[in-house]
Amino acid sequence: MPDAMPLPGVGEELKQAKEIEDAEKYSFMATVTKAPKKQIQFADDMQEFSKFPTKTGRRSLSRSISQSSTDSYSSAASYTDSSDDEVSPREKQQTNSKGSSNFCVKNIKQAEFGRREIEIAEQDMSALISLRKRAQGEKPLAGAKIVGCTHITAQTAVLIETLCALGAQCRWSACNIYSTQNEVAAALAEAGVAVFAWKGESEDDFWWCIDRCVNMDGWQANMILDDGGDLTHWVYKKYPNVFKKIRGIVEESVTGVHRLYQLSKAGKLCVPAMNVNDSVTKQKFDNLYCCRESILDGLKRTTDVMFGGKQVVVCGYGEVGKGCCAALKALGAIVYITEIDPICALQACMDGFRVVKLNEVIRQVDVVITCTGNKNVVTREHLDRMKNSCIVCNMGHSNTEIDVTSLRTPELTWERVRSQVDHVIWPDGKRVVLLAEGRLLNLSCSTVPTFVLSITATTQALALIELYNAPEGRYKQDVYLLPKKMDEYVASLHLPSFDAHLTELTDDQAKYLGLNKNGPFKPNYYR
Ligand code: NAD
Repeated sequence: MPDAMPLPGVGEELKQAKEIEDAEKYSFMATVTKAPKKQIQFADDMQEFSKFPTKTGRRSLSRSISQSSTDSYSSAASYTDSSDDEVSPREKQQTNSKGSSNFCVKNIKQAEFGRREIEIAEQDMSALISLRKRAQGEKPLAGAKIVGCTHITAQTAVLIETLCALGAQCRWSACNIYSTQNEVAAALAEAGVAVFAWKGESEDDFWWCIDRCVNMDGWQANMILDDGGDLTHWVYKKYPNVFKKIRGIVEESVTGVHRLYQLSKAGKLCVPAMNVNDSVTKQKFDNLYCCRESILDGLKRTTDVMFGGKQVVVCGYGEVGKGCCAALKALGAIVYITEIDPICALQACMDGFRVVKLNEVIRQVDVVITCTGNKNVVTREHLDRMKNSCIVCNMGHSNTEIDVTSLRTPELTWERVRSQVDHVIWPDGKRVVLLAEGRLLNLSCSTVPTFVLSITATTQALALIELYNAPEGRYKQDVYLLPKKMDEYVASLHLPSFDAHLTELTDDQAKYLGLNKNGPFKPNYYR
């Protein structure tokens, strides 16, 4: 989600903004300047590196297993069939075709299916593949030993194999106990990646897999790529000495970033960290464009609802809300917005939506969608007043926006009608259709487009390259945002997918705007 940016020159955080005087110091320069002429070139210029706390999640550091490790992305396809035995992968002796058993997956024999999934994903991740091709001669990650903990899907496999092609050795576990595509994990293991993950891990398995990645005789990680902060947490707790060799942490999730800022604030962060969650490109795609596509996917898969003429209220008109509303409007739904912020409310008006209080429309709407990142936006009182068959779901952070707990009372009956679909029945027979028990609808009930994941993966790869190659002293023990120029570079790598032709500034225009012809084209505070 976009950050509440401090006003330039006012916020404490901006006072701490870092300026790197010589952009040629960028370690990844060698890699990216291999871009064809039309691509952004990183030339001499001034570059700001800023660090500032971002809007944070609500999870705490003390926990047994993070919520993100149970909020699952649903996999597009899974070849795990019912004949697959129930023996825990930890009990199995498996080797790949080269005789290596340096992995633990559900079934190595599924590798071929997994390879096909990876090849399909590669087709919509051309930016990452192009980065792989451009930089594989240079090998900017030669000597990097990356320990990773992310969703293990076909898209992540493309990232992992890119990191390997750029010279890294990787050991990988899953950041989520449900999200591993078993056949993809098998394909990675077959290709020689030390992967420890399977779908349906127990909590004990989850930590065991992380431990197997970190704790390996004769191999010590020097980079961390984390999604959710569990790996980082484990290393802090169990192997603090590992940090002596770690050059940096790249963290992708809101939760993990929040934890890093907490560590930094407490003076306990002992290596530099890159917050890729808040890079502009990733934010735009994750929040706006991804939600614009996946809101309909999630609702249709669960309810078969037709949107034309339906009355929908969307709570929150931020990035996620804007994406949802655009999609619903396009299908002919009548969309109402609730907002607390006058600017977003005015934007909703300009976009042709009625801005209302939830109470004003709650009796008449067919669908209620929350996208605020706030809590108790839909209360028991609202739920009591909804009409029969009203669909209620959440696209915002975690499951706090709808007061689901208030529905777990004796007078209401819960009926599971489909996976992720509950009918909550009032004593008079009224039913409310609750999706994914109030958790994120699209993560629980639909898939995330590969292209969106390509943006994230490319951002992660660049952040790893930068942190790994940065000369000592460039990054302190703090949390950094990806430099704007790299963010722009991620976007530029994705433009060829659309045969989009970027206009180049003339010298005169560049002078007029006070910009370097090669970017960055926007100030650091631009979101
Ligand atoms: P945002 O800050 O841009 O938008 C949230 C909006 O909600 C703001 O405009 C705010 O004024 C409004 N709001 C807050 N409390 C409200 C209330 N009580 N009633 C009405 N409006 C209220 O954030 P965003 O980028 O749109 O993200 C929203 C949430 O979605 C976050 O929790 C984020 O983590 C989550 N998110 C979900 C996905 C997904 O795939 N489902 C992707 C990215 C982010």
